[in-house]
Amino acid sequence: MTEPLLQVSDLTVRYRGADRAAVSGVSLDVLAGETVGLVGESGSGKSTIGRAILGLVRPSAGRISFAGKDIDAPTSWRGSASLRVARAGAVQAIFQDPYSSLNPTRTIGSSLAEPLLAHGFGRPASRTRVTAMLERVGLPVAAMQRYPAQFSGGQRQRIAIARALVLAPRLVVCDEPVSALDLSIQAQVLNLLAEMQAELGLAYLFISHDLAVVRHLAHRILVLRQGEVVESGPAEQVYSQPKHTYTRALLAAAPIPDPAVQHGRSLLVSRGGQAYG
Ligand code: ADP
Ligand code: MG
Repeated sequence: MTEPLLQVSDLTVRYRGADRAAVSGVSLDVLAGETVGLVGESGSGKSTIGRAILGLVRPSAGRISFAGKDIDAPTSWRGSASLRVARAGAVQAIFQDPYSSLNPTRTIGSSLAEPLLAHGFGRPASRTRVTAMLERVGLPVAAMQRYPAQFSGGQRQRIAIARALVLAPRLVVCDEPVSALDLSIQAQVLNLLAEMQAELGLAYLFISHDLAVVRHLAHRILVLRQGEVVESGPAEQVYSQPKHTYTRALLAAAPIPDPAVQHGRSLLVSRGGQAYG
């Protein structure tokens, strides 16, 4: 039996001063190399789950374990800082806003080398790795000397992907990574994420309010509503035979098909189904 890479059991998160929990009793597993999609409307608790996995918010109850080790327990939060650092290389994140991982005052080369230097790589080895990673995500080596503002939104997200992957993590929490991008650029970035997964055997927890985006990348989908999972299953099944009225409503709220959209989306790597459009 394969042990899940990530195991979240009965996670509850209540923010200080809030009258209801942002997340209640959520359980989910992510296997090595797998993509699990987490969908739900704005405010349903998706980012809170991602932040709890990244150790950025404190669970009120429940357990999160990564590669068989508890990464946080409500009773040992104080002791978890060192663990958080220790697993920093193995779990990474990509957010909607690349500026959350790219410092606008530092060159791309410096931002990308930072995690490597912090993990004991020497300067020459870091440079070699950063160069290779930038090329892999489709940017010229000259990008090393430039600043984040000198790139387009799609390029900046490619740079954020390079930074997240430079330490060869096993799990990447992708929180609305394409939501700020034009549809044609979304497809390119999603394809890049799919390629990187195939090459590096990464697992993704892929968070999006857009079921159509998640469908193509995810093996399994969980639907979140007001902090609770209301439906889960294989991506194609949740998409084509939604059981819950909320899931149907989410699908109905997806952008109306438009030839340009369909063209963009048909570029996507499709898993276990026909390309959409
Ligand atoms: P999503 O990512 O699905 O949009 P979030 O996890 O960001 O949802 O938010 C879930 C709920 O928690 C919302 O009601 C939101 O207002 C609330 N929330 C999020 N962050 C905080 C915070 N730092 N303090 C208090 N409430 C928060
Ligand atoms: Mg969010």
